[in-house]
Amino acid sequence: MGTNWRIDHECPQCGGPITLEETDRFFSCDYCRARLHITSNGPFQYCLVPKNAGTDLLYFPYWRFKGTAYAITGIKIHHRLMDHTRSASSVSELPYSLGFRPQTQPLSFATRKVEGRFITPSLAFSKILLSMEKQLAGMGVQATAQDTLEKKYIGETASIIYAPFKRDGQKLIDAITQKKSYLIKKPLDDESLIAGKADTWRPEFFPALCPQCGWDLNGERDSCVFVCENCERAWEPIHDGLNEVSMGAVLKHSGDATYIPFWKIRPRITGIQLDTYADLVRLANLPKVVQKKWETLPLEFWVPAFKIRPDIFLRMGGMLTISAPENIVYENWKKPSIYPITLPLVDAVESLKIIFASLVVTKRKNYAKLPGIDISPLKSTLILLPFISRGNEFIYEEHNMAIQKIALRYGRNF
Ligand SMILES: [Zn+2]
Ligand SMILES: [Zn+2]
Repeated sequence: MGTNWRIDHECPQCGGPITLEETDRFFSCDYCRARLHITSNGPFQYCLVPKNAGTDLLYFPYWRFKGTAYAITGIKIHHRLMDHTRSASSVSELPYSLGFRPQTQPLSFATRKVEGRFITPSLAFSKILLSMEKQLAGMGVQATAQDTLEKKYIGETASIIYAPFKRDGQKLIDAITQKKSYLIKKPLDDESLIAGKADTWRPEFFPALCPQCGWDLNGERDSCVFVCENCERAWEPIHDGLNEVSMGAVLKHSGDATYIPFWKIRPRITGIQLDTYADLVRLANLPKVVQKKWETLPLEFWVPAFKIRPDIFLRMGGMLTISAPENIVYENWKKPSIYPITLPLVDAVESLKIIFASLVVTKRKNYAKLPGIDISPLKSTLILLPFISRGNEFIYEEHNMAIQKIALRYGRNF
């Protein structure tokens, strides 16, 4: 299970102190009642707060990765939660990881307001991810094996966290503990190292108002799509505002329901004949007689639009892809109660091949083809499905599909 960091900041509207969690993308201020959503151009950037601030501090970058790694090896799909930090600078004498520190120390956004010099990351995130995998393998944990056909990272957070060090000649002293020091071989005033031009990154706060009708948008702190209950539109934050997401629902006409969100994605697939639902039935060897109308029914993938344990994620996505809900309406769905949308479309798209593999991988001739198959999205829609509450579970009656409430709750934490 991953852990969340806490970030101290101030309300951009009234200056009141606020504490955010790393995954927060929406907040309402306790002081001035502003409702804002938070975005970033590029990865979010944080820094550990030193005991004594000062202009003589050097801030060294670390990449932070949190997410689920999926790997298809032979006929098995492995998954592993990853939650790591790794040094992003070329100074090899510094600790390669921040360990547990970000969980126990206060963090702030790494904005220009923080005094000190920020070292520009010199190692790309993709390189770091590769070395993390190798390291895990060295510890006997197979994130991926040699014969791995495919791997994907889903629900990931890649952010940068800066750790402060105080300079003393060629030594860097940890400005958090103020104890550990590191002797650095490279000249510390080397331009290539210190070049870190004044970084202009800052988090962006925007009013959480519907761009169409001006109504307050609904969401929870970890929501990645906000819904306007007034005009029934859905909005996804992008770096400079909100982008409309098309949305529909399967309505339940009697009784209460909680509407749980899924991404419905029409794919473009190359490397294998897979365009229609009939193609999928044949490839996955489903125990169904292919009906004539399926030969022209476009294949659509269904992907949970919320964070949930990997095995449940694949199972629900697979079930709905095999047996797609019908009677979707695209307007007048009358404000149902919506479970928060916490898995963005980009992550859903990343998962398409893994969901596809989960349906077809038991046949050797299929999984041998996987490396040559490419799946990209053509059209995506957010669909709300009605689940009724029964004891410890939510149930989608049409498909007799159940999900444990506790699994949904745990899913919110990673
Ligand atoms: Zn405020
Ligand atoms: Zn609206």
